[in-house]
Amino acid sequence: MLVAGNWKMNLDLAAARQLTSGVVAAVGSTHNVDVAICPTFVNLDAMYSIMHGSGIRLGAQTMHEADSGAYTGEISASMLRAVGCHYVILGHSERRQFFGETDDGVSRKAQQARRHRLTPIVCVGEVLEQRESGEQNKVVESQVRKSLSDVSIDNGSELVLAYEPVWAIGTGKTASPEQVAEMHSHIRSILCDLYGNAKGDDVLILYGGSVKPSNAEDLFARENVDGGLIGGASLKADDFAAIVDAARR
Ligand code: PEP
Repeated sequence: MLVAGNWKMNLDLAAARQLTSGVVAAVGSTHNVDVAICPTFVNLDAMYSIMHGSGIRLGAQTMHEADSGAYTGEISASMLRAVGCHYVILGHSERRQFFGETDDGVSRKAQQARRHRLTPIVCVGEVLEQRESGEQNKVVESQVRKSLSDVSIDNGSELVLAYEPVWAIGTGKTASPEQVAEMHSHIRSILCDLYGNAKGDDVLILYGGSVKPSNAEDLFARENVDGGLIGGASLKADDFAAIVDAARR
């Protein structure tokens, strides 16, 4: 299991320090469950100093696909490694919606992440109209296959998938445990097709979309739900710790 907090563009340095200290204290040991926080780029280094040794891992929210060069405003994989990142979220729906990220771009970034031994958390998910017209399986399959094209792994722990139906992100609407279980089983079969059963079965598939302490346990109890990518609820140490506890049970 993995529970990862996506802090998005929230918290200045002082507030981020306070939250990280709170998360370290509230989560306690990471026994049984991997835990990660993904602060903004400018706060990564400082957060690593606070959480180093706690077992909680650090992740970034995106990165550039090139090694270095004239890409004003961008951050490379090696820069993320140098400040202690283990994970990088790629293809989050907000990146796709507001910053023009495509499946092809996500694939190039995921390949680069792997070259630098970062574990990509690749996000996929349908929008509301696609769910309403029953196209969600087809849409997500296409996203998974294209976003992972040419992304090779030696074992399943080198890649994480996050199913995040766009209509459930930050809206308070959560996909039902049945909808989540159905999609995760679909994604599992695609991963096994791409990587073979041994590796495909070991890739963690997270659910994201308005996960809270009150619904986490029911979601995490489903087959192929290997944890969560948590937005809003990761900004409160106690809520985030309660979600980690739900993953432990
Ligand atoms: C997210 O942005 O990845 C997310 C799941 O957000 P929230 O938990 O706020 O819906």
